[in-house]
Amino acid sequence: MNSRQYLQIPGPTNIPDRILRSLSQPLINHRGPEFEQLLAENTQGLKKVFRTANDVLMFPSSGSGMLESAVVNLFSPGDTVLVGSVGVFSERIAVIAESHQLKVIRIKKEWGQAVKADDVREVLEGDREKKIKAVCLPHNETTSGITLDIEGIARMIKKTGHPAVTVVDAISSLACVPLETDLWGIDIVVSASQKGFMLPPGLGFVSVSPKAWELRERSTLPKWYWDYKAVKEKNKAHQFPYTPPTTLFFGLKESLTILLNEEGIENVWRRHAVIGTAVRNAALAMGLSLFAEKGYESDTVTAITMPEGIAYKALAEVLRDRYHVIIGGGLQKLQGKIFRIGHIGALHIPEVFAIMGAVEMALVQCGYKVRLGSAAQAAAETYLRMTSAAVG
Ligand SMILES: *Cc1c(COP(=O)(O)O)cnc(C)c1O
Repeated sequence: MNSRQYLQIPGPTNIPDRILRSLSQPLINHRGPEFEQLLAENTQGLKKVFRTANDVLMFPSSGSGMLESAVVNLFSPGDTVLVGSVGVFSERIAVIAESHQLKVIRIKKEWGQAVKADDVREVLEGDREKKIKAVCLPHNETTSGITLDIEGIARMIKKTGHPAVTVVDAISSLACVPLETDLWGIDIVVSASQKGFMLPPGLGFVSVSPKAWELRERSTLPKWYWDYKAVKEKNKAHQFPYTPPTTLFFGLKESLTILLNEEGIENVWRRHAVIGTAVRNAALAMGLSLFAEKGYESDTVTAITMPEGIAYKALAEVLRDRYHVIIGGGLQKLQGKIFRIGHIGALHIPEVFAIMGAVEMALVQCGYKVRLGSAAQAAAETYLRMTSAAVG
């Protein structure tokens, strides 16, 4: 019998059946009235998920494309940007910026450690000539399983009075953990379809503040496909400058219905907090160590240090072949050193038992010593404590 696959990598994620069904519809004219309606509804819904009154634009793109879109729309060759670089994904915008002849100042931390408000303050206060045009940060660094305190950092940037805009990569955090674009005053937030939105890859999202639009007017980097202004203009006529992925628009409508009208975004955040904590506590109860700096552990991806003497490849193979559980490995210098469990999107507490129970059995099969049931007990205790749902 073919078991369902538990796709516990940090994106693409498991897709609810009803979203899958919404994707198999006959195509529509992307310049016709049905698309007009779809674009309007999806844009309104996205603004609610982004918690913003700013423009939200969509692109046929991976998440990385949205990072590049921010660079080419806001900056000019020779501009300086500050990047908090704490892993593969937060380093990516630095590399993109350099490829477009920008100067990049990096705040580097050991992978697993978080950039703090004070780290950013120090650099901004040292920038007397106000050369730094933007502070670029990951909300959630998927490489190491940490979430930054974007709210605190944004508040501190305001306090310094520095004019830099904020660019936040929320690809593995939006629609999962609290992100308040307007309350926190984030100028650019980028995300993509295949993580919290529970969709296939292929659709990128970006919110653009008035201050970011001002930079767009002054920016001289070449842009056509990524031009925010061109897309905004065409969107006014309910169209795109090119063919949009209409099928993903069907899926996005279903996803937004689930996130906003049925579960409610605050409940989505709470569910991720409970599940993230349950996964971490299950790992700790099995005697494993978390890779993330304490206090910054991500509620969408848990990075766990490989126990002594066990090979990542062996663990991942047992999980895949025996239990249909797919986990992620360490990237680049963390290869073989950690394993990562994604818990983004369509996931409920019984699935945590399945996944962490399988991890426990697979570890035992790889020679690890643990009392069976440790993971389940920790997950159950966490769930009951955090939801006050204890019976009796
Ligand atoms: C997944 C991810 C990306 C890359 O997205 P792609 O769609 O693969 O280009 C970038 N940043 C973060 C934080 C991510 O989790």
